[in-house]
Amino acid sequence: MTETIIKVDLSKSAYENDSIHNRWHPDIPMVATVKPGDDFIVECVDWTGGQIKNDDSADDVRDVDLTQVHFLSGPIGVEGAEPGDLLVVDILDIGTFEDSQWGFNGFFSKQNGGGFLTEHFPEAQKSIWDFKGMFTSSRHIPGVEFAGMIHPGLIGCLPSREMLDTWNEREKGLYDTDPDRIPQLAALPDPDTAHMGRMKGEEAKAAAAEGARTVPPREHGGNCDIKDLSRGSKVYFPVYVKDGGLSVGDLHFSQGDGEITFCGAIEMAGWIHMRVNLIKDGMEKYAIKNPIFKPSPITPKYDDYLIFEGISVDEEGTQHYLDVHVAYRQACLNAIEYLKKFGYTGAQAYAILGTAPVQGHISGVVDIPNACATLWLPTDIFEYDMQPSAAGPTKHLDGSIDVPLSPDKE
Ligand code: ZN
Repeated sequence: MTETIIKVDLSKSAYENDSIHNRWHPDIPMVATVKPGDDFIVECVDWTGGQIKNDDSADDVRDVDLTQVHFLSGPIGVEGAEPGDLLVVDILDIGTFEDSQWGFNGFFSKQNGGGFLTEHFPEAQKSIWDFKGMFTSSRHIPGVEFAGMIHPGLIGCLPSREMLDTWNEREKGLYDTDPDRIPQLAALPDPDTAHMGRMKGEEAKAAAAEGARTVPPREHGGNCDIKDLSRGSKVYFPVYVKDGGLSVGDLHFSQGDGEITFCGAIEMAGWIHMRVNLIKDGMEKYAIKNPIFKPSPITPKYDDYLIFEGISVDEEGTQHYLDVHVAYRQACLNAIEYLKKFGYTGAQAYAILGTAPVQGHISGVVDIPNACATLWLPTDIFEYDMQPSAAGPTKHLDGSIDVPLSPDKE
């Protein structure tokens, strides 16, 4: 039987588990050691460490302490791994816990993290998604059901000392250009809520002061939130420290491209079954700077999409030069306005785009001055026909159910 090398107890604080950490630092001790060719199971808490509850209030999303995230299981040492190698990780399977068959999606309040469409949805909101085998639906978002492409939002190896210093320097440099900005330009080290795994005493204190936050994706992978990194995929991670130090967390039952709601996809606690191997000196052999991966042989089959276009002209009509961020935002807003015609509230529509297997594409980046981005909405996730027709949209929903909303803190 495959060994579970990291266990979690959802009834206890993640801070009590020394096989969990929430900062990146080269000196965090390995919590387990495996050999190339081994397969093993790792259990994970949800990314917030249980701060969000399965209920009908969004107060927990409003009040979440984002300096605590993300809680990662690891680091796992791989015998023989050395800087410059590639750590090959087969994601053999990912699953939910029997006694935790649910996940959450939300939008943070503008004052506390915000999100991709924070100007349009400035207040904290939440939807709860129930799992039935491979499918999910939400009591807060009627009319949709879809299969999960379960994946880790966050996975990667520990950085080297040199890499950590580079991260801290460049992110502080950006932050300092506008330190008062809401949301912030970057998430800087925050020792107060750091969990440094098995580091103790003065060493842990010093490391916490410089430990990189887990928020952005970086050279090592990290918080990439790629929905296609699903069970069955194979990832090639750069190794920067002796034994590699693989950590994983932020499991998602399903996510739309961009994770535009930020809190987040359908966030869940669960387990991940992995196998590791090494390609010695693989970074140099294959010119690898960031991870590469191969997709799963199985993915949900959606053949039909309604595709929304967006260009780099913002909501005020201001022209931006080939800005794909602005263009994707317009594609998302266009999809939300469309779905509202079928009876959804804007918040429900936004939640669908953040959770369902929606594809985002960069379609054109050369036709000055407009970038073109497209949002691909699978039509089969809806229980009714939501395509345009001469008859016009039929309202299938009466608007009486909405995602729970919390007023912003004063
Ligand atoms: Zn997540």
